Amino acid sequence: MGDQVYLGVDLGGTAIKVGLCDEQGNLLQTDEGPTGTEHGPDVVLENIAQYARKLVTESAYTWDQVAGIGAGIAGFLDIPEGFVKLSPNLGWRNVPVKKILEEKLGKPVKIDNDANVAALGEAWAGAGRGIANIVCYTLGTGVGGGIIINGRIYQGSNGMAGELGHMIIVPDLEAIDCGCGKKGCLETVSSATGIIRMGKEAVERGEHTSLALVENIMAKDVFDAAKTGDETALRIINRAAMYLGKSMATVSVVINPQRFVVGGGVSKAGDILFDAIRKYYRECTQETAQEGVDIVPAILGNDAGIVGAAGLNLRG
Ligand SMILES: [Zn+2]
Repeated sequence: MGDQVYLGVDLGGTAIKVGLCDEQGNLLQTDEGPTGTEHGPDVVLENIAQYARKLVTESAYTWDQVAGIGAGIAGFLDIPEGFVKLSPNLGWRNVPVKKILEEKLGKPVKIDNDANVAALGEAWAGAGRGIANIVCYTLGTGVGGGIIINGRIYQGSNGMAGELGHMIIVPDLEAIDCGCGKKGCLETVSSATGIIRMGKEAVERGEHTSLALVENIMAKDVFDAAKTGDETALRIINRAAMYLGKSMATVSVVINPQRFVVGGGVSKAGDILFDAIRKYYRECTQETAQEGVDIVPAILGNDAGIVGAAGLNLRG
């Protein structure tokens, strides 16, 4: 086979996942191993190089067929230079990832932040396949985002584009502090952390809810309670969805994407969440902004990070 393949690296705090994609973004082969975060960046980058070579050796492809390598990394990055400025979960400061990996592997290397990479994965080979302009939300511990315009990640002037979780959207009287230092960010209400907090607060207020029987409330407990008709849980999910829908309405008047893709653990709440997001989106947009626009769940799950990273050399 003379085809080229693209290698993606999902660099997490505990595991490094690697994968090979073809030119259409189909994931051909994956592998993973421990990150070795405690041993510092030199060892972690050597681990990446070893896992990458092993992946290709064990595949039907040769190293010569690897056209490029991409890595998704959580943290503050200098994307053009391929430099990690600060990554709290890896404990890294000023690590020239691109330079070191290019020396070790002899291939072009690109890096990008984990949320942008997940968005690119969905755009290339997931829920946004074949659509030029999409905006992705990843609802996890926080709310991540990625903007894809004409099939490519939109970085903004200094890499801050797509930080959707820090849209300030909750009215002042209800706003609480966000981890970013501001108040009232989308992330404070629509992340798993926000949903858990609202659940605990409702129990503390003495609301009549089945959540009062749960020892340590997780976001899934709130979804499960909502599915049984628990009014408190339904109200919490509705609130998370309302701000998501309103934020999408805001995004739509700025860049008018054709599709919003929503992934991450909170998206597992399913129709209860999505129906409400769509309702608030419709309420807050003009009819012309709704035509041909849809809001759908992500489909790649945890593979979005590897696929998107692999795609950085084509569409980053
Ligand atoms: Zn914030």
